[in-house]
Amino acid sequence: MKPKTMLAFVAGVAASVGLVVVLTLAPDSQVAAAPANPSLAQGVPELDVYYPGTETVAPDEMRVVALGTGMPSARPKQAAACFLVELGNGDKFLFDIGSGCHERLAAQKIPYDYLDKVFIGHLHVDHFGDLPTFWLGGTVMNRLTPLRIWGPSGGTPELGTAHAMDLMEQMYAWDIGTRSGVIDFRGGVLEVHEFAFDGVNEIIYNENGVVVRSIPAVHGLDGAVSFILEWNGLTFVYGSDTVPNQWYVEHSKGADIAIHECFLPPTLLVTKQGFSPLEALTVGTQGHTSPEQFGKVMSLVKPRLAVGYHFYNDFDTEPEVRERVRKTYDGPLALATDYMVFNVTKDDITVRMSAIDEEVWPSPALKEKIAPDFTDAISFSEFTLSGVLAWPEVVQPIYDEINEIYGTDFKPGLK
Ligand SMILES: [Zn+2]
Ligand SMILES: [Zn+2]
Repeated sequence: MKPKTMLAFVAGVAASVGLVVVLTLAPDSQVAAAPANPSLAQGVPELDVYYPGTETVAPDEMRVVALGTGMPSARPKQAAACFLVELGNGDKFLFDIGSGCHERLAAQKIPYDYLDKVFIGHLHVDHFGDLPTFWLGGTVMNRLTPLRIWGPSGGTPELGTAHAMDLMEQMYAWDIGTRSGVIDFRGGVLEVHEFAFDGVNEIIYNENGVVVRSIPAVHGLDGAVSFILEWNGLTFVYGSDTVPNQWYVEHSKGADIAIHECFLPPTLLVTKQGFSPLEALTVGTQGHTSPEQFGKVMSLVKPRLAVGYHFYNDFDTEPEVRERVRKTYDGPLALATDYMVFNVTKDDITVRMSAIDEEVWPSPALKEKIAPDFTDAISFSEFTLSGVLAWPEVVQPIYDEINEIYGTDFKPGLK
């Protein structure tokens, strides 16, 4: 069954003009039943939209959600690289965790204990910039499970993932200090798995029927990789960043869903971003993959669905990018924008857009919290405490209210 290739185009365009969109036209799409509202026409094909938190993943299904499809430069519409993979066996995986993606992830309404596996393709900030907020923010969003991170080695130990994670923990010493002895900090524990960047189709993860392999990528410096996830006869490929390379083409062949960067064409880098022609050519074809190169990669890989990302996907850029991809590839194609959702089964691949609840809250903890050892708390100095305005007439009634409701006897005071 061919994916609905036109749908992604419509989704991208509609999303760019602020519409709530949707699109699934699965083969079993129904003609809408006679609506209660007579102003709605009958006979309109049922439109569909993905509402996070309302659909379970079917036992044989893979759901992929685009949570960051843009560029390093921040903008409201598109965060930097991040894709969520949810499997019918209950497992969930994050591939890259670029700047700005955390709020999109929060919008998926997934308890943080389920979000404990992050695979980082390379250490550019647009591919792991939101790791600190996800890691430490997660500790107050009720993640009580260590955060597991997989990432490549570099050309030297100092350029590898393990070193970066070590320094990240040091960098956030103050943040961690504020939580020590104050909250259940199990979710703040990092479990880091660094693997060799030059492993070719090496297994780096094998649990619960899910295998993740790594292949080298060519981008920036030694130490960039792409990932291949296999489960239940379905294959998901995530390129992170790379110029076209032999490993991706060889090991992604026939994937069910193959994601690869598809950068802005050099012409747009010049006209819309002020790059010099040489900068645009170098960045757009030698550091990244232009739409024409992306198309050539996909014409060799022949996935069931090719997904391009990593460009400003707007009403005026999407058609040009698509046209350029079509010079070299005529297969199923989606040009991703944030909140695009792919439901993948052996029979079908559906592409939709999400409707997002902007007022989402984190879910309550799934595990019982363990009271911290308060003696681990770091005290304020006498100096800082001397500045406190305790205002017991204001604060005591707040304590009284809680103590009365919960039968407790807490007393205010900073230490
Ligand atoms: Zn990069
Ligand atoms: Zn990138």
